[in-house]
Amino acid sequence: MPPPQEESAKFGRILLKLSGEALMGELEYGADPDRIQAIARQVKLVAERGVEVAVVVGGGNIYRGLAGAAAGMDRATGDYMGMLATVLNALALQDALEKAGAVTRTLSAITISEVAEPYIRRRAIRHLERGRVVIFAAGTGNPFFTTDTAAALRALEIRAEVILMAKNGVEGVYTADPRKDESAAFISTISHREAIERQLQVMDSTALSLCMDNDLPIHVFNMDDEANIDRIVCGERVGTVVSTDG
Ligand code: UDP
Repeated sequence: MPPPQEESAKFGRILLKLSGEALMGELEYGADPDRIQAIARQVKLVAERGVEVAVVVGGGNIYRGLAGAAAGMDRATGDYMGMLATVLNALALQDALEKAGAVTRTLSAITISEVAEPYIRRRAIRHLERGRVVIFAAGTGNPFFTTDTAAALRALEIRAEVILMAKNGVEGVYTADPRKDESAAFISTISHREAIERQLQVMDSTALSLCMDNDLPIHVFNMDDEANIDRIVCGERVGTVVSTDG
């Protein structure tokens, strides 16, 4: 099959946020290798269109600092454990991407030089310009934050045009949680401000505020169909678009 045409892509540089849950598939814990491979194939396809792809991975499928804090652990310590969990996911995704034939670099916000490069903004941009898929590990490197905030921060730092926010089992943003509330209605477009005011499940409020203040659009989509990544990149109307105009 000939490689897909570069012209068909709507974006030049994107940031894909994959929560730990998105990597978990049907499992109760950890990462599902089939799921990760399917995601990796899609990311490779998008990269072949000439789109520069950066990925922020979560860690909630392995560990969350809040869970540790609830069990009596120091919150910051728990958060560092959570950040290390994201590194495990990043390495699994890197492996799958390389097996799929993509060239990748993992950049970690916590220095672990034996396994990943340190995060250096200009280096990340250089990798992207050279067509490498960049995986950002260890969130922001700071406790009390989330990988959603890392996604917003890194997207702004590398000047990504859009954040692709992968959700598990839902098509995008709803008026309530559709898994709990039958009357929940799907929302196809909304402004950052309204999403914050109505406390909708786009991303956490710190991350969403950062996107709002910097006019960064977010496409929220269902990761159960990995092809959605490519559809969004090609300009198809998929999931919910969160933007300044709404
Ligand atoms: N975390 C953190 N700072 C960051 C990013 C993550 O302390 O900048 C910790 C936090 O404990 C969080 C865990 O890492 O619960 C896993 O990240 P997150 O919950 O964002 O993962 P996701 O929900 O996307 O799977």
